[in-house]
Amino acid sequence: MSTPAPTLLTRWQTARIGEAQCIGCFRCVPVCPEAAILGAARHTHTVIQSLCTGCAHCLEACPVDCITLHPTAHLCAPVALGVPA
Ligand code: SF4
Ligand code: SF4
Repeated sequence: MSTPAPTLLTRWQTARIGEAQCIGCFRCVPVCPEAAILGAARHTHTVIQSLCTGCAHCLEACPVDCITLHPTAHLCAPVALGVPA
């Protein structure tokens, strides 16, 4: 399998974690394909907005539904997303 070419895109949504609700279960971290979620077990996690592509995988993994998507309109640095350039 070939490595995807870097792609410049406009992110239309990014994920945010409700820190008051986050139980630090760590389930969102391994499912994020961009490694955009930081956090240690049993501590509040956070999303690095500049890395998040809004794919929503983390929402499905969260057992307490404390991750939400928010509109955004910033242009990202080139990143490998596996989509055609
Ligand atoms: S929406 Fe996708 S890229 Fe953004 S933090 Fe969640 S899993 Fe990672
Ligand atoms: S899956 Fe949800 S509760 Fe668990 S660490 Fe991630 S944001 Fe927090």
